[in-house]
Amino acid sequence: MSIDDSSLLLAIGFCGLSLAVTFFASWLSARHERFTLTWTFAVLLIVTNAFAYGAYVTWPSLLLGAFAFGTLVIAFLTVLLAAYQYRGTGVPRSEILVLGGIGGVSVLGSFAAGYDGLGMIVANATASFFLARTLLIYWSCREEAPIPIIGMTVLYAATSLAFALCAAVLVSEGELIRGAAPKNWAEDISLFVYAIGLTGVGALSLSLNQWRLARAHRRDALTDALTGLLNRRALFDRHDGRPVPRDTGVIVFDIDRFKRINDRHGHAVGDDVIRRFGAVLDRGRRPGDTAARVGGEEFALVLPRVTEADAGAIAERIRRSFASETILSGEGEVACSVSAGVVFVDDAGYSFDSVLSVADDALYAAKRDGRDRVVRTTIDRFANKETVNANAYRPGQLAGIPGQGQRPHEVRGL
Ligand code: GH3
Ligand code: MG
Ligand code: MG
Repeated sequence: MSIDDSSLLLAIGFCGLSLAVTFFASWLSARHERFTLTWTFAVLLIVTNAFAYGAYVTWPSLLLGAFAFGTLVIAFLTVLLAAYQYRGTGVPRSEILVLGGIGGVSVLGSFAAGYDGLGMIVANATASFFLARTLLIYWSCREEAPIPIIGMTVLYAATSLAFALCAAVLVSEGELIRGAAPKNWAEDISLFVYAIGLTGVGALSLSLNQWRLARAHRRDALTDALTGLLNRRALFDRHDGRPVPRDTGVIVFDIDRFKRINDRHGHAVGDDVIRRFGAVLDRGRRPGDTAARVGGEEFALVLPRVTEADAGAIAERIRRSFASETILSGEGEVACSVSAGVVFVDDAGYSFDSVLSVADDALYAAKRDGRDRVVRTTIDRFANKETVNANAYRPGQLAGIPGQGQRPHEVRGL
């Protein structure tokens, strides 16, 4: 079975139309993703180009030729624009305008002067250049989703090469005035590659967009909106369900007398205090430590591969750093402090939940002792070793709970 040019152009046209509808629907569901809207226009231009070129093949005229090859250039310029929007590092407007201007003027100018053959060479070369530029942009973001992006760059490379071949064959034929659509082996190949490339690139761009949206939703679901730190769910996702390794420190922080801050200065200032503590915690953690906001004004910091002394020192440094923050409200400076409970896990096998409970007890000891301090403990002084699936730690069941015997070791002023 052989496929003639008109069937291929019809395939490109109808496949493009359904892609445009899908891109538009995708943009409607997430309007901040401008690249899906740009792709909608790009695909509509490609469809226009396919139908216009089909018409030009049947009824060759300078006007139809100029329109068909002009839309080809504008369509691929729009694909390039979509790539810049996808990358998200800003659209170089002047580059787009200059490229569009040079490509458009030289193609239309050639047709207007009657040199349709020259116009076709310029249009094919420009399309090839735009596709190669697009390819490089996607290549630079391949780490985001390697498989679809590498697949896409291969399709862009093939389509860019196909248009470059068309330009090269037209140059070798040397006809600057043709009077009809060119017919050679490079044209036949390029139509095939164009049809496959368009479908593939469109589908991959859509899946890339869906993948990006899903990732953004997942990130939102795991991020605390006020501080930008991980939220409680993310903390438990990371650490729950497997034993806490030995030499791990867990610190829980709770801002002191926060209700009073809210009452005196208002909720907005309260939010600012929470945000500022979040920033202090983020600055105070080591790379690899997990900082999370676990409740209203409660935070946790998980320190893997730490010494008992360092865990206490980190908590103390963060406490001091927060105390030295200047937070202003309409009524002057807001005095803020934080209390912390530190637990050092010196043996493997405890559940995250039980470690957190012990840190909580140390925190409450800090509150009882007057706040604005760090109380530290090791888990084995408080709890019988529990496995991940054992019942959660129950206060009172264990020896050494503050106020019930052995006092935790206070490290204020480390
Ligand atoms: P303590 O020193 O014992 O910790 O006293 P506290 O007042 O900080 O204790 P408590 O935990 O009872 O108060 C926490 C308050 O935090 C209660 C709640 O109204 C407020 N809160 C919870 N989430 C937010 C928030 O997102 N923003 C603001 N502004 N306040 C919040
Ligand atoms: Mg609290
Ligand atoms: Mg509090």
